[in-house]
Amino acid sequence: MTDVRFRLAPSPTGFLHLGNLRTALFGYLLAKSMKGKYILRIEDTDQKREVTGAIDSLIDILKWVGITFDEGPFGSAQGRPYIGDYGPYIQSQRLDIYKKYTDELLAKGGAYRCFCSAERLTKMREEQAARHKPPRYDRTCRNLSREEVEARVANNESFVIRQSLPLSGEIKVVDELRGEIIFQVADLEDQVLIKSDGVPTYQFASVVDDYLMRISHVTRGEEWLPSFPKNILLYQAFGWTPPKFIHLPLILNKGGGKLSKRQGDVFVEDYKKRGYLPEALINFCALLGWHPKNDKEIFSLKELEKEFNIDGLGASPAIFDQDKLDYLNGYYIRQMTKEKFAELAKPYLPTGNFNTVLVSGALSSTQSRIKYFSEIPTLIKPWFGPEDYGVELLIWKDLTKEQVKVNLLELKDKIDNLPDFTKIETEILNWLKKSGKKNGDYLWPMRVALTGLKDSEGPFKMALDCGKAETLTRITAAINKL
Ligand code: GLU
Repeated sequence: MTDVRFRLAPSPTGFLHLGNLRTALFGYLLAKSMKGKYILRIEDTDQKREVTGAIDSLIDILKWVGITFDEGPFGSAQGRPYIGDYGPYIQSQRLDIYKKYTDELLAKGGAYRCFCSAERLTKMREEQAARHKPPRYDRTCRNLSREEVEARVANNESFVIRQSLPLSGEIKVVDELRGEIIFQVADLEDQVLIKSDGVPTYQFASVVDDYLMRISHVTRGEEWLPSFPKNILLYQAFGWTPPKFIHLPLILNKGGGKLSKRQGDVFVEDYKKRGYLPEALINFCALLGWHPKNDKEIFSLKELEKEFNIDGLGASPAIFDQDKLDYLNGYYIRQMTKEKFAELAKPYLPTGNFNTVLVSGALSSTQSRIKYFSEIPTLIKPWFGPEDYGVELLIWKDLTKEQVKVNLLELKDKIDNLPDFTKIETEILNWLKKSGKKNGDYLWPMRVALTGLKDSEGPFKMALDCGKAETLTRITAAINKL
């Protein structure tokens, strides 16, 4: 039996897209479910798209969510720049390896040099478009004689290397989620394997590396399905057995379109910055295409490591539901210990010497209601001093300004004379009831006096968090406004 080896093969083009986090997670979990290894390989052959520092930030963000690897481009204790027996794991450090396999393929007739200029190819495509034909390389260079190729190479003419595909027939490929898919070879293009600067394309480098790194299962996004037959033809050209392929379903937005930056955040780093928790992002991504047996929807990474299984995967598109992510994030926030919450909330709190009761009051209230941490600064403002509000906010229903003022004066007196301030809620409610007063006539202005907001935490919790002196100060300030 061959060893189970999954890989994640990201291109370091900037931040990690949520779709790629889903791919990363599924590969990790499937490897775990089959007791296999997980390998990280960096596909940085498209240098134009590469962003400096992106490899490190990619590794950091994967670590932050808790996805770990058995092999990859990490410094090892032995002083090697990578861990594993199949390195290097960064494609730009493997160019000599690709050269060897290109030469082998050229010698076998599985590939050929193409000298067509960019201008010629553009013109060819325009003509094809005018004739309503699909844009496809017309194979001009496929049958050049050996002598001509040698002469042009000796003449330093620039060339790319293309895969020599069969001209007709069909190719059957098997995807683990979709079964057998048949492609007509005539619909495929002799794709470029090596660019004119000698650097391989994704299509070539990934096949060579998956083979050399003994990858048994490829998990990647469905967007790679159209090039799947070309990958298989490349394996055939080399005489290699392909790994199993699992193309993960598309992730669509609620409207059925592609998930894109225009509709909101799509990068894990954006979510991290807004104060989403790795637990929530992992839980959310796990459900983008995986259907657990029962209706359970809360899963920790540890639970997923035990329960995730290929049988629960489907090929139909997954829908990205932001409300669900918010719900999950809120759930994990509420599950947290007070101490952990306080620690994570620290960066969002104002700096200064604040009364600790006030701070913990603000924290307990926010922990019970926020969806993500970056909501904290707005939500906690009332604790650190009421918003500057307009006097009309103090007016409840059809009360007059004068009535509100009288009510607040009465309330202030009552609070000032409470035998036990901590019983403020029962004391005030009893008093209102006994004297036949309406709650709203007193509690609305009291709450606004304490928070300065139309919607906020209730008046008694606010009063307890503020303490007696601050409560009276804020009520007095409101009275002075009236
Ligand atoms: N480098 C490709 C990407 O970042 C990976 C595709 C694959 O997993 O084979 O999209």
